[in-house]
Amino acid sequence: MEQPKDATEATRRAHAALARQLPPDTDEDMGLATRGFMGTIPDAKILNEAGHAVWDMSTFAFQGDGCGCPDTVNPSLWRQAKLNLVHGLFEVVPGIYQVRNFDLSNITFIEGDTGYIVIDPLISAEPAAAALALMRQHRGDKPVTAVIYTHSHVDHYGGVRGVLSDEDIKNGLRIIAPEGFLEEAVSENVLAGNAMGRRATYMYGALLPRNAKGHIDAGLGKTVSMGQVSLVPPTESISQTGTKIVVDGVEIVFQVTPDTEAPAEMNFYFPQFKALCMAENCSCHLHNIYTPRGAQVRDAKSWSWYIDEAIELFGKEADVLFASHHWPRWGSETAVAFLKKQRDLYKYVHDQTLRMANHGLTPLEIAEELALPPTLASEWYTRGYYGTLNHNAKAVYQRYLGWFDGNPANLHKHPPVEAGKRYVDLAGGADALLKKARAAYEHGDYRWVAELVNHLVFADPDNADARHLQADALEQLGYQAESGPWRGFYLTAAMELRNPRPPATEPRQGAAGQMRALPAEQLLDSLSVRLNGEKAGAHEIALNIHFTDTNEHFLVTLENAVLHHYAKRKDPRAPSVSLTRAVLAELVIGERAFAAALADKSMTIEGAREPFADLLSMLDRFDFWFEIVMP
Ligand SMILES: [Zn+2]
Repeated sequence: MEQPKDATEATRRAHAALARQLPPDTDEDMGLATRGFMGTIPDAKILNEAGHAVWDMSTFAFQGDGCGCPDTVNPSLWRQAKLNLVHGLFEVVPGIYQVRNFDLSNITFIEGDTGYIVIDPLISAEPAAAALALMRQHRGDKPVTAVIYTHSHVDHYGGVRGVLSDEDIKNGLRIIAPEGFLEEAVSENVLAGNAMGRRATYMYGALLPRNAKGHIDAGLGKTVSMGQVSLVPPTESISQTGTKIVVDGVEIVFQVTPDTEAPAEMNFYFPQFKALCMAENCSCHLHNIYTPRGAQVRDAKSWSWYIDEAIELFGKEADVLFASHHWPRWGSETAVAFLKKQRDLYKYVHDQTLRMANHGLTPLEIAEELALPPTLASEWYTRGYYGTLNHNAKAVYQRYLGWFDGNPANLHKHPPVEAGKRYVDLAGGADALLKKARAAYEHGDYRWVAELVNHLVFADPDNADARHLQADALEQLGYQAESGPWRGFYLTAAMELRNPRPPATEPRQGAAGQMRALPAEQLLDSLSVRLNGEKAGAHEIALNIHFTDTNEHFLVTLENAVLHHYAKRKDPRAPSVSLTRAVLAELVIGERAFAAALADKSMTIEGAREPFADLLSMLDRFDFWFEIVMP
């Protein structure tokens, strides 16, 4: 394994230049992040049943007290990383408690009449269970009386089995979520799931070692936990702003905020505690309008509008504001000032991007030019630890104008390998290109090196000098990045360029396991994007599919190289296939063979067997470990 390199002089200069622009560090944020501390478990180390750590803050000990910022880390990201290091149980106000940094997100406990209302039970069960145990240790051994999911992202519901028993679920314990929660929770990662999952390994730096030259922080939190993830559907959904309900004696007033940070999200207010929960609509940084792992872009205008509405609805009353990431803000004035600047942060990016677009500027130009006004730039909580001004401007452009910048030179460009060959030729061959690129590297122009050498890597991935120079340039860009995700992308790319993965003959699975749990409708939907259009050609197939586990019937048809499915429809002339969703998923990803499924009766077919076998043979299997920085 080839090791990372040191920071260059140019990178040290870039850090020094940034340090001069940063707001003064008054330690105010560290005061907020540590306020109300009640206790924790050593190093927040949480083991699973097999004894493996699913969360362990000792791996970040190199960022602890007295550790200065290494020159391989952006000084602003280092500051955020230290704030995200503060873990344990904290009192927000008497009656509201948060466990922070037992996972990427916060879990919040509200004391009701008879037990605890849990808000956002983390990504996986083990950290959620550890947080509940810590809460019980300090506040009494009481039952969980309800769960609230603020929104449809996995770091806010995946650990629910850590706070609920089978019995609780059977008894229909209240689980409250915004309208559209379940649909959004299962749909966001299905159709493009393989690509998103692989790209997420870059974004969260999951493959990187944790040290000064590796993973530091995700910006939004330290990293993601590695325990048991599940999804327990809500028992009630909130669709109207102004809805008031009483849960275990606690009154809650809801504000529904669709199409903000998530497609289904809500803020809410606790009158008796004068406390406002801003879900993930506010956090102590600039969030993603576009998430670099890949997803549909978010609506910055609507996001800002709903923060404004929250100020109107709750701003006068709220004495404290907390959220599902980072630390709270105490005091009405402080909370409202924070809300206003968060509101204007997203609207500023939105409005200024479109202003410049209307002047004819293109995404790269807008992203380069966009800078915050002084009143927003003076706050730490507007800095790009997760989203960046640069990629968020491109997201706004994409939402309104799409990927094309209007210049037809960009309308029909050669793809990377073909373009690469031509650029290498233009440069006078590989050696001449490398010579130019090395000169640019010496001058610290790493962005140009990355662009130039990328052509050679794609033209000739076996050129080890090219891969190494590309790795060196991306690595310095990673060391300079203020955004956790940008650092993750750059450093993971450098690692993969230096240590290419051996070729595989079989597709290597990622999280294909989640296919098994998909609702039937979505499972069939996900088959459509596996259908290989070329193989399907002019084939026509009709099949009746009966899912025996959910007792649902579908007619599935193939024509024009396109799959369709129709619930509750049957074609009497077509063969009928009976199986569970899990068996279908296993047939598709290759974990179960067709003949074996017939033989052990996990699948039965009435009528001809060939059509279903043919259809399965036309479905692609995705390789999770596809290359990103090489062809
Ligand atoms: Zn989150």
